[in-house]
Amino acid sequence: MTNRRQFLRKSALLGAASLTADYLLANDKVAEHHGPKPGSECIYDGKIYQNIKFQTFNSSNDILNNAIRIFNRELHTRTGLDFSTGKGNPLTIELRAVPQSMPLEAFRIEHLEADRISIKASDDKGLLFGLGKLLHTSLLTTAGFTPGTWQGLSVPEKPFRMIYFATHFYNFYHEAPIDQVIKYIEDLAFWGYNGIAVWFDMHHYNGIRDAEAQLMIDRLALLLQAGKSVGMKTMLTMLANEGYASSPLNLRAKAPKQVNLRGKYGVEICPSQPGGAELILKQVDQELDEFIKRGVAVDYLSLWPYDQGGCGCDQCTPWGSNGFLKMTNRITKQAQKKIPGLKTIQSTWLFDIAVDEGEWAGLAKAYNREKPVVSYIMADSHETFPKYLMNNPVPGNLPLLNFPEISMWNSWPWGGFGANPLPQRFQDLWSPIKDQVAGGYLYSEGLFEDLNKVLYSRFYWDSQEPVGVALREYVAFNFSIDHADRIIEAIHIMEKNHGLNMVNNELVKNAPTRFTVPENDFGAKRAYQLLSDIDLDLPRNVKTSWRWRILMLRAMFDVEFRLSKGVENPKIIAGFKELGQIYSSKKANIHVRPPLI
Ligand SMILES: [Zn+2]
Repeated sequence: MTNRRQFLRKSALLGAASLTADYLLANDKVAEHHGPKPGSECIYDGKIYQNIKFQTFNSSNDILNNAIRIFNRELHTRTGLDFSTGKGNPLTIELRAVPQSMPLEAFRIEHLEADRISIKASDDKGLLFGLGKLLHTSLLTTAGFTPGTWQGLSVPEKPFRMIYFATHFYNFYHEAPIDQVIKYIEDLAFWGYNGIAVWFDMHHYNGIRDAEAQLMIDRLALLLQAGKSVGMKTMLTMLANEGYASSPLNLRAKAPKQVNLRGKYGVEICPSQPGGAELILKQVDQELDEFIKRGVAVDYLSLWPYDQGGCGCDQCTPWGSNGFLKMTNRITKQAQKKIPGLKTIQSTWLFDIAVDEGEWAGLAKAYNREKPVVSYIMADSHETFPKYLMNNPVPGNLPLLNFPEISMWNSWPWGGFGANPLPQRFQDLWSPIKDQVAGGYLYSEGLFEDLNKVLYSRFYWDSQEPVGVALREYVAFNFSIDHADRIIEAIHIMEKNHGLNMVNNELVKNAPTRFTVPENDFGAKRAYQLLSDIDLDLPRNVKTSWRWRILMLRAMFDVEFRLSKGVENPKIIAGFKELGQIYSSKKANIHVRPPLI
């Protein structure tokens, strides 16, 4: 489907799925507002603006001002034009907050008359998400801005839509210029994310006063504040028995059971040792103080049992339903005294992973006896969703969150070969749990899974919407509406060909670097040819954008590694170098940077 009008109509009709029953009352005219009104398509489709004015009503605060700033920035970046001094009749975008007129974070877009679009919401976040929807469904070219015809009410289905940025190994989030990372957080807010999570990973440091620790907290605080400025909630993740590198030897935890799957740093603390639990609580308290001192309002703590973490001593096991449970209770109560209203999430990551140790059953039993103090359970895994929850209710009947792994699956180094689009995989993982979860938070290592983030943002917004709708919107907005079909075809080929890996890695001195290539080829040459042909036709700002380049490079690697039978060549090495610049990975650890640079 290359016709823009068809595309916009389809988007509008599918948007109807966002309606919730409460807002489809008989006397509500929303339903008939959906999709282009007769005639309105002709007014808006094809009219190009170089001049846009915003009118705000009942609201003028930082979140809304930032939303307008981001919208203007994207207009400028993607068209090269300055809309504030634009020529011709202006398009006026009305932004109107009407408290309690619809669910929080929802929005309604209406095309009122020629040259005027209205976005209404109950709150500023809804207005921000509405601006994001208008932007992503519109056409931005060097000629100007053509508004999309999407209209109607859109209500987020899942309240919890967060993203976790792993800030380690000098990956993009850890090392890139902070302005770039902040801009990226703003991009994600426009796709509907309403929260950001980070982890202050204690084992790197000798204590909270360690100069390096302070620098890391400075950076994490800036990321959380950037999230706040676009209405996001903030979350700190942590192990429930985390330790600094300098943790007292006599208080250290024993390796957890099934340590080969769960890992350990070896500095974790055993809460069953006298003074162990108190030290853990003191460290959490100090960490919260550091963020408070930097002006960050922390909304959630996410408490983890393993990876790394846990204690395998007799008093602590089974960790998930014993030592861990006690610590999540104590940390929650203590943190809530400091920050009233703070909520905690109990992670069950790697519970009963290969051998059933009774962790799931024990947690359920405990929550039958006593009301949980945590507010959510998080469950997920590297592969399929934990079986326990497919056959049993969530312990304590708590709301359930997932933790999609969008970065590392079946390819190493992470991001080393450019984009890793996996739409079908995520649809398959999402479908069985879509009615069970209240949302979730994604695990992210960097820019290379940008498309995957957008796909999940839409699952959370509208669990029933097929993944192809968000995929098309992403492609049309970032690359080209006219070429969307062929770009999507290339992406599906890339997903089937996913699985490039480095072996004999650089951790082994003087070992030659080799690469393994998936045995079957589902059309690597065709995918690369499709994108190469389209590349010739794209405007300069699109063809040089990092989102397009990581896709192009991935298509190139899929071909070149097959031709070279897993050995690098000059084209491959040039591709690695370009990726390294996009990721700011000069200092990065081998896990998170392109090979051979
Ligand atoms: Zn222990």
